[in-house]
Amino acid sequence: MASMRAVQVNQAGGDFELVEREVPTPGRGEALVRVQACGICHSDSFAKEGGFPGVSHPLVPGHEIAGTIESLGDGVHGWEPGQRVGVGWFGGNCGYCEPCRRGDLIGCRNMEIPGITSDGGYADYVLVRASALALIPDELAAEDAAPLLCAGITTFNALRHSGARGGDLVAILGLGGLGHLGVQFAAKLGFQTVSIARGADKGELAKRLGAHHYIDSTAQQPGEALSKLGGARVILSTITNADAVTAVIGGLSRRGKLVIVGASMEPMQIPPAMLIGGDTTIAGHASGTSRDSEDTLSFSVLAGIRPMIETFPLERAGEAYERMMSGAARFRMVLTTGA
Ligand SMILES: [Zn+2]
Ligand SMILES: [Zn+2]
Repeated sequence: MASMRAVQVNQAGGDFELVEREVPTPGRGEALVRVQACGICHSDSFAKEGGFPGVSHPLVPGHEIAGTIESLGDGVHGWEPGQRVGVGWFGGNCGYCEPCRRGDLIGCRNMEIPGITSDGGYADYVLVRASALALIPDELAAEDAAPLLCAGITTFNALRHSGARGGDLVAILGLGGLGHLGVQFAAKLGFQTVSIARGADKGELAKRLGAHHYIDSTAQQPGEALSKLGGARVILSTITNADAVTAVIGGLSRRGKLVIVGASMEPMQIPPAMLIGGDTTIAGHASGTSRDSEDTLSFSVLAGIRPMIETFPLERAGEAYERMMSGAARFRMVLTTGA
């Protein structure tokens, strides 16, 4: 039997362990992907610490997977071995639940999530549903494609469905793993782009990524600073600090919308009355389907958008994960298998 390397977590809160496993065989409707690169996402903490619906251990984390199709199970149409493919949070839908029957595939009640409900991409090979596959354009390196399959699609899809139109003032709150991509997408989608982050030193990077304005939230009240620029049609929040999110709401224009993609369980304190006068909306946005991933990758090639990454070999997954969790990563950590 062929074997492969995998990095698994044996129990909730346990350490990463490099193990030898048998290479799985794709069943009906499945694809075996030879992993070249797998990004490390903050949501991998759900795999490591447990507590997320569908998580059981031992588990191989990883849902920012880029590689090639090694082999296909029966009943898979439209894909060929050797094709370059990516898989993100969307690990394929069931096709029979109510949201699926209404065409809301990302709302699927039986959705597979690689590295959460099944073994993910911290390995040489990963088994996924064929409906989870997204084609990677030739122009994109695997290690650049990987973070675009979660951090990228999350920000790109939220922005393009936000209702903002070309020329509108759009603010990206945070300039980390999600934020540095959000700023690039906002600028290239034609929005007057404002980057909001902590510290004067990040201003130069924000401008380099395409931001037209930079607000240092440690030096000025960010909501007031946004209002001075005319008020934001959309604020995309990529951060997890609830108070920092609350601090920007006053910077929305009339009928403005706060779109949240930074996942946190911390409650936000917002005076309800504050939402009424401006007809303000607060919304979340779930990442997107495999087809949305393909759009994200193609748009990134078209517009010259790339994530800023640090690569680590697969066997140093634990170290790379700690670097991401500590906030030291600039800006996404990507594991490479050498394939
Ligand atoms: Zn993710
Ligand atoms: Zn479904």
